[in-house]
Amino acid sequence: MRALSDRVNGFTDSVIRRMTRISDACGAINLSQGFPDFDPPRELMDALAKVAYDGPHQYSVTYGAPNLREALAEKHARAVGRPIDPETQVLVTCGGTEAMMAVMMSVCNPGDKVLVFSPFYENYGADAILSGAQPLYIPLVPPDYGFDLGLIEQGFRDGAKAIIICNPSNPCGKVFSREELTAIGALAERYDAYIITDEVYEYLVYDPWEHVCMASLPGMFERTITCNSLSKTYSITGWRLGYVIGPEEVVEMAKKVHDFLTVGAPAPLQEAAVAGLALPESYYRGLRALYTKKRAYFLEGLDRIGLKHNEPQGTYFVMIDIQDFLDLPQFRGWTDLAFCEWMTREIGVAAVPGSSFFKEDVRNLIRLHFAREESTMDEALRRLEKMCALLDKARQTP
Ligand code: GLN
Repeated sequence: MRALSDRVNGFTDSVIRRMTRISDACGAINLSQGFPDFDPPRELMDALAKVAYDGPHQYSVTYGAPNLREALAEKHARAVGRPIDPETQVLVTCGGTEAMMAVMMSVCNPGDKVLVFSPFYENYGADAILSGAQPLYIPLVPPDYGFDLGLIEQGFRDGAKAIIICNPSNPCGKVFSREELTAIGALAERYDAYIITDEVYEYLVYDPWEHVCMASLPGMFERTITCNSLSKTYSITGWRLGYVIGPEEVVEMAKKVHDFLTVGAPAPLQEAAVAGLALPESYYRGLRALYTKKRAYFLEGLDRIGLKHNEPQGTYFVMIDIQDFLDLPQFRGWTDLAFCEWMTREIGVAAVPGSSFFKEDVRNLIRLHFAREESTMDEALRRLEKMCALLDKARQTP
């Protein structure tokens, strides 16, 4: 048979989602793919039950149900301090995943350079390949995942047409400060580049950090395309609801991609999700408080059992340093992927290997998430503690 598509051959399946499949097959505790194990707000479940009988069950308007687009436009208008037109500036997609892909397809021609921070959410790799864009990587340097603005300027000088900013950042938990965003924005303006943001973790930020919406900064709305999702905000990752908001010219392009790729996000779920956008401010404060507690609980647990980790400023991810394990004779020469597969099978806790996020040759990190009930975290920590016993044993053996 003749060779299939080189473009699709250029990337693998998602390691994040592969780890979920392995985890399910082993009956492990899944701390790999990030999604909560608790229910969405009651209001959303009630609305969904009502929709089952009242409908809609047929297609919504391709670009998103009008009432959902209106609610999203109002939300974004409050964030950016300017009116948003739900007809021309908002597109509802199947998750943040489709939002990013539709925007990359809309902005990039094959060969266009796009700046991507490393570590990056692994979807951006496939987004770049499918849209033909050539990623130029800007390192986010551990432990605080800072970056060199000079490299961004260099990238724009070399012709980068856009920059992708995941804020708060998956997997490293960095929250970009107003100063950092302002500085990046000034460069984007100087070199006439687009800014594509992925803000799906906007509400999962921890004191003293605050989320700043790039499009809200002076002069930035015109060049910023905001991608977002309802998945994390309302604990509905399976509903697959995302959106794009930005200048009309770009959104009109993204609408065309969406029209032929998916036709529309599920109409009943769009209808039910409107109830989420109607929730009061206190809901978002509660969500932040909930994750603040989970973060503290999990990080304290990791400290107690002796796993080294970063201090995420946002998101529900934490990076664990496994170098001490890789130095043990039984793991010598292992990749982080092999380690994660072993950990899932033998320890019963699934993680994502760090190498699926880094452009650099990083092999000593794995990503866990803490969007789990405390009892589940307890069990995961108990299992991981057994793994840590391997280190104690090695220390005791001369
Ligand atoms: N953002 C989640 C993660 O990184 C997964 C999202 C997805 O799989 N669509 O784990």
